[in-house]
Amino acid sequence: MGQTVRIIVYLLAGVFGLCVGSFLNVVIYRLPRGMSLVSPPSHCPACGARIRPYDNIPLLSYLILRGRCRRCGARISPRYPAVELANCLLWLGSAAWFYGCGMGMVAVGCVASSALIVVFCADLETMLIPDSAVIVLALCAVAALLLDVFGMGTGVAWQDRLIGMAAAFVFFALLHFVPKLARREWLGFGDVKLMTAAGLLLGWQSLLAAVLFGSAAAALVMLPLAFAKERGAERAFPFAPFLAAAVLVCLFFGQNAVAWYLGLFA
Ligand SMILES: [Zn+2]
Repeated sequence: MGQTVRIIVYLLAGVFGLCVGSFLNVVIYRLPRGMSLVSPPSHCPACGARIRPYDNIPLLSYLILRGRCRRCGARISPRYPAVELANCLLWLGSAAWFYGCGMGMVAVGCVASSALIVVFCADLETMLIPDSAVIVLALCAVAALLLDVFGMGTGVAWQDRLIGMAAAFVFFALLHFVPKLARREWLGFGDVKLMTAAGLLLGWQSLLAAVLFGSAAAALVMLPLAFAKERGAERAFPFAPFLAAAVLVCLFFGQNAVAWYLGLFA
């Protein structure tokens, strides 16, 4: 019986994750451009043809159409199937990872994953972090805190969450405002808001791990790129995708990473 329920929960998470992933693609395209999420209906950005329902099946349609618009043959960005697959896998992962905590925490894991996917893609494509995605992440953090109070969460103490939120705000606000004194911008205010919400979601220990992972990944990817480019050409690069990915990893593995690290000294 318990096993059957578990399999049904996994199946539902995977199927809904795929469908929500399809919707996230609409969110990622339209939110930073200030467009409505509901109208007009989905259309090809190249020729304006409406996407038929049978051409709008997550993953399958992209494969059947071989990544091209049915009418004009324009390429469809591989971001579409990638987001659908990533959201499906992360919802499945949330169901598996947080199953023992209860359905509340499974839901928090799913919604937080989707919000972070939106941050990742929107910032990569437009250098903007949609406020609504950060608000959704903050609501997930509040829900996680309440679930913990009732013993249905991941066991992060509420004090650690509040410290994480305050520390993230102070640290990233300094990184935002201090360079501004010299008329430079290292970090947008969107990153400050994102990490403040992440601090509340993760607690300060996992947040620290996320900041370290995110910065290390950004340095690994961006330093060679910066050297390859012409010198003197100071170009802004999106930092939020690295932070969002690191927060996502630490939402699942943060506590394990911290325990492993502390174990090194025990
Ligand atoms: Zn077209």
